[in-house]
Amino acid sequence: MPSPLENDRTPRILVVDDDASFLLITRKTMEVSGFLVYTCGSGEEALEIYSEVQPDLVLLDVILPGIDGIEVCEELRKLSDEMLLPILLVTGGVDKDAVARGYAAGATDFIAKPINWTHFAHRANHLVRTSRGLNELRFKRASLATAQRMAKLGGFTYDPESHETRWSEELCSIFGLDAEYSKSTTKVYSALIHPDDRERVIKLSTEALDANKSFTVDHRLVLPGGEVRHVRYCGEMLADGVGHSHVTCIVQDNTHHTRALDKIRYLANFDGLTGLTNRGQFNARLADTLKHAKLSKNLVAVLIIDIDRFKVINDTLGHTAGDQILQVIAERVNGQVRSGDCIARPESAGPSAELARVGGDEFTLFLPRIAHPTDAGRVAQRILDAIPEPIDVDGQHVTLMASIGISIYPLDGQDCEALLRQAGRAMTFTKSQGGNGFQYYTESLNKTSLRRLVLESKLREAVDEGRMHLVYQPKCNLETGEVIGMEALLRWQEPSLGFIPPDEFIPLAEEIGCISKIGRWVLHEATRQNKEWQDSGLKPVPVAVNVSSRQFSDTDLLAVIKQTLEETGLEPQYLEIEITESAMLQDADATTRVLEQIRELGIQIALDDFGTGFSSLSYLRRLPLDTLKIDRSFVMDLPGDPDANGIVEAIIAMAHVLKLLVIAEGVETVEQQEFLRSIKCDEMQGHLFSKPVPPDEFTKFLKIEPTS
Ligand code: C2E
Ligand code: CA
Ligand code: CA
Repeated sequence: MPSPLENDRTPRILVVDDDASFLLITRKTMEVSGFLVYTCGSGEEALEIYSEVQPDLVLLDVILPGIDGIEVCEELRKLSDEMLLPILLVTGGVDKDAVARGYAAGATDFIAKPINWTHFAHRANHLVRTSRGLNELRFKRASLATAQRMAKLGGFTYDPESHETRWSEELCSIFGLDAEYSKSTTKVYSALIHPDDRERVIKLSTEALDANKSFTVDHRLVLPGGEVRHVRYCGEMLADGVGHSHVTCIVQDNTHHTRALDKIRYLANFDGLTGLTNRGQFNARLADTLKHAKLSKNLVAVLIIDIDRFKVINDTLGHTAGDQILQVIAERVNGQVRSGDCIARPESAGPSAELARVGGDEFTLFLPRIAHPTDAGRVAQRILDAIPEPIDVDGQHVTLMASIGISIYPLDGQDCEALLRQAGRAMTFTKSQGGNGFQYYTESLNKTSLRRLVLESKLREAVDEGRMHLVYQPKCNLETGEVIGMEALLRWQEPSLGFIPPDEFIPLAEEIGCISKIGRWVLHEATRQNKEWQDSGLKPVPVAVNVSSRQFSDTDLLAVIKQTLEETGLEPQYLEIEITESAMLQDADATTRVLEQIRELGIQIALDDFGTGFSSLSYLRRLPLDTLKIDRSFVMDLPGDPDANGIVEAIIAMAHVLKLLVIAEGVETVEQQEFLRSIKCDEMQGHLFSKPVPPDEFTKFLKIEPTS
C-alpha cells in the first residue's frame, strides 16, 4: 500500500493469471480506465514483484500453476500486513469451499469469470478510492496519537445516558495505567482526582456541562501507585452525527511544567540554604497576620534572632562550615517554633507561626495570637536553650549562642516595619549586654540608642581633648605578696555623662574605629608614667597595657611601640602587653609574627581573659607568650565550686608545662588567695589587694619593701 502522501499518483493494478489472453484483455481495458497495469503468470512471480510495484489493487486468479491464488492472497496480506489493500479473487465457477478459504486468507471480495469489464473498471476505481481514504484516515489517526503522546495529551468520552466512559490509549499510556482503564465504564476519572481537588473539579465540570459550556480546570491526579501528577482537564458536550450527545474530555499532563513553576515560586519565596521563608515572604505573611490581628484584636510577637559572633565562625572555619552550622541552627530554632505548646492556639484556624532567614545569621519569627507578651519570652528562652548544643563540623565542636529581640503588636508598633525595627533595637541591646539572651523592646531602648549616639560623639571629642586618664592596679606575687607589676586601665569621666565604664566605651571605640588612637595614647601615657616613677627613685616594676585586637589590623603596632619607647625612654623589659584571643581571629599568622617581633624587643606578652574565648591549646603553643591571665569568671567561683577548682588547677598545670607564668584576675577574698596559692598559681591581681588607683596613690605600692 503506498503512503497516503502519494494518494494522487496513477492507480496501479497487479493482475495474476496463467491465462495470457485474460491478462491481455485486462491490460487493455484497465489502461483505458487510467490504471497502470502490471501482469504476471504465477503466484511466485506476483510475490516477487509485489514490493516493487506497490499496487493499489490486486486481481488474483484462484487457480494458478504453482501456489494457488488463495495462498498467494495469504502471503500478500502478510507483506502488506493491513486489510487496506483490496485483493479480488477471480474464480471460474462457484466453489463454496474456495470462497470460504479465500475470505479467511484475507481476500477483499470475489469476482466470477467472465468479467463485465465496464462494471469492473468502475468497481476497481471505487475500491482504490475507498482504500486510499481509509489509509489516509489511519495515517491521520496514527499522527494524532503520536502528537498526543508527545504533548502528553489524552482523552476520554463519556456518555451521560449509558454512563459509559471510553479512554484513549494515550490517556492510559501517559499515566502508565493499565489498558483496563480504557474500557472503564464507571467514573474512574473522578476516583483518580486528588481528594483535596475532587469536589472543586466535579462541581466546576458539572455546572459547565449543565449549562452546555466547555470547562478547563487544573488539578492533581493520584495514580494507583500513589504518584501525584498535575493535569489540565478540559471538556465539552459534543453531538455525534446521529443526534446523540456525549462529553469529550482532554487531559494534559502538566506535571513537569507545574513542578518548574513551583520551583520558581519556591526560589522567590524561600531561603535556598535553610528552606525557611525569606524576607519578602515573611513580610507578606506578617502583614496578613497583622490584618487578621487588627480584626480579632489579638497580640502578635515579632522576634529577631541573631547568632552571636557568627562572623568569627565564617572567618575561622570558612563559609562552607558556616553554611552547615546555619542549617543546623535553623532546624533547632524551627523545632522550638513548631513544638510551640506555649503559643496560644485558638480553635479557629488562622495564620500560623512563621520563621524566616533574612540575612547571613539573622532569623525573624512571628508568633500570631499570643495570649500574653510573656509567651514570646518563653519561646525565646526555649530557642536560646536549644542553640548551644555543640555542633560537629569536620571533627571540631562549635558552640554558639544567640541574641533575641522581641516586639509586640500592637504595643510596640502597628506595621511590619515598625515591629521589625523595634525588635532589631531590642536584639542589638541584647548583644551589647554580652549576647546569649533576649530582650523585649521598651521605650528606654530608644533612649539607649540615643545614649549611644551621644557617647559616640563625646568619645571622639574626649580622645582629642584629653579627657581620659589612666588608673593602675597592682599585681603581686602570691607567695611573697610583693608588688611585681601593674596594669594600666583606662578611665573616662565625661562632665555631662559622668563615669563611663570601659566595658561600655572600649567596644564602641573599636566599632567606630578610634581605638587605635586611644590605644596609642594609653601606651604613651603608661610608659611615660612608669619611666617617671623609675626616674624619681621608686621601685622599677613593669606596666601592663591592654592592646585591642583592632590595633593589630589598624596600625603598625610594632612601629608604634618602638617609637613610644624611644620617646619616653622606658626600657622594654618594663613594658608588658595584654592581648585577648580575639586578636588571633583575624589573621593568626600575621599577628603571631608581630607578637614575635614585639617579644624580640624584650617586651612581655600576656594572654588576657583566658578561659572565655576559644582557649585552645593550639593557640597557646603557637603564640609567643610569657603569661596567662585566668579570667575573673573562674576565680569568682573559687574555692566553693569543685568544677571551677578543677578547671583553674588544670589551667595552671598546663601553663606550667608550657613554661608560662599564671596570674589570677579578680581575686577578692582571702579564701580565693589561699586556694590559688595552694595550687601553685604564680601571681594575683584583684580588689583583695587593691582596686585600680590613680597614679599619685599608686606610688605607695612602689615604696613597700617585700615582707618576706
Ligand atoms: P581587663 O583587661 O580584664 O581588666 C581587668 C578588669 O577587672 C578591670 O576592669 C578591673 O578594674 C577589674 N578588676 C580587677 N580586680 C577586680 C576584682 O577583684 N573584682 C572585680 N569585680 N573586678 C576587678 P575595668 O577597669 O572596668 O576594665 C574593663 C575592661 O576594659 C578591661 O578588662 C579591658 O578589657 C578593657 N580596658 C580597660 N582599659 C583598657 C585600655 O587601655 N585599652 C584597651 N584596649 N582595653 C582596656
Ligand atoms: Ca587586662
Ligand atoms: Ca582580664
